[in-house]
Amino acid sequence: MKRKSSLYENVIEQFNKAADAMSLDPNIRKILRETVNEITVHFPVRMDDGSIQMFRGYRVQHNNALGPFKGGLRYHPAVDIDEVRALAAWMTWKTAIANLPLGGAKGGIQFDPKKHSPRELERITRRFTYALGSNIGPEYDIPAPDMNTNPQIMAWILDTFLSMMPPQERQSSFHIVTGKPIESGGSQGRMKATGQGLVYILERWADDEVFDLSKATYFVQGFGNVGSWAARLLKPIGAKMIAVEDQSGAISNPAGIDPDELLEYATKKGKISGYPNAKVIDHFTYMQTVADIFIPAALESQITSDTAPLVNVKLVIEGANGPTDSDGDRILRERGIHILPDILANAGGVIVSYFEWLQNKRREYWDLEEVDSKLHRKLIKAYVRVKETAEEYETDWRTAAYIVALRRLEHVYKERGIFP
Ligand code: GLU
Repeated sequence: MKRKSSLYENVIEQFNKAADAMSLDPNIRKILRETVNEITVHFPVRMDDGSIQMFRGYRVQHNNALGPFKGGLRYHPAVDIDEVRALAAWMTWKTAIANLPLGGAKGGIQFDPKKHSPRELERITRRFTYALGSNIGPEYDIPAPDMNTNPQIMAWILDTFLSMMPPQERQSSFHIVTGKPIESGGSQGRMKATGQGLVYILERWADDEVFDLSKATYFVQGFGNVGSWAARLLKPIGAKMIAVEDQSGAISNPAGIDPDELLEYATKKGKISGYPNAKVIDHFTYMQTVADIFIPAALESQITSDTAPLVNVKLVIEGANGPTDSDGDRILRERGIHILPDILANAGGVIVSYFEWLQNKRREYWDLEEVDSKLHRKLIKAYVRVKETAEEYETDWRTAAYIVALRRLEHVYKERGIFP
């Protein structure tokens, strides 16, 4: 579904609400509502048939007061400057809430990767990395996977970036990108990290609410990295997935859809439609699924004034970035549906990216247990900070999450002052 308004305006609305609630310093408000740098690059790439195609790529660096710019790269036809700006700002809040020494950025290329061969994807990725040049760097701005990008693409970015460096500096620069394959310096647990983080947060929420997750029903939008991992990790807990939607359509089965079987099918076919053990439903029927939990894990602006009145769950936990627009947010709250906001709920990915960055810098390899337990600790601390802030300000969790981030940023700006 198409976005109605500017995504960045949506971020500013969320930001203003929190800034008002906490009486954020007006000068710091002026700083944080703007991005620091916005890079747009156009670059030519040779296609398999010998022709040349031009591509438009972006990197928006929203803020680096707390540490190097950090955030993913998205390959999607809907990528534009407005979307990348919004996604970059959400990264600033996300890293601040998780108490990471990192800032926020995001980038991407406006194109449909499904229409290109692996060889073309490699050349597009390498040429984009070359075009970004020194606008990214291991101690300056560190990309990672996002929608339609993966460890293979990160490996190409790594290789291209290292090839552009003096030979003596290459071995100490593997932290230029995170989400790499394990053999190329990636971290254990990074692939599942966002889904794993969602499940840790859900378990904690269920404990607090005395809610039995083992008997819960839920439905997922998007069956990519985040949606499929969350579902697979919820399976041993006992929660039942009763509907799923991706670009190819929606399917439902009140008796439960097995996440591992669906993933096997989707990996083979490249989509969920046609999966044999579920029936096809339309988008509006899907949005009306009666369940305990809804996990949007696809594109932004899915819960809007049109769809929020249809949602019939206790809890929405946002695996996607920005799946709920301002109207959708208000309507869910009015209807008593609790929201665990994106900048808290999906922070697991960037937290394990931070661990990968640290391991590369220290030349260490942590095992999965170490990564998982550190992720759990960091995320639950963030959860508690947001929960306590919501109580302190008597506000919703999204606003509370912003307040946690803005307090930290306000503190460092006040401490350091403005140059000159
Ligand atoms: N793309 C992910 C996000 O939206 C992860 C970013 C990262 O690991 O830097 O949070």
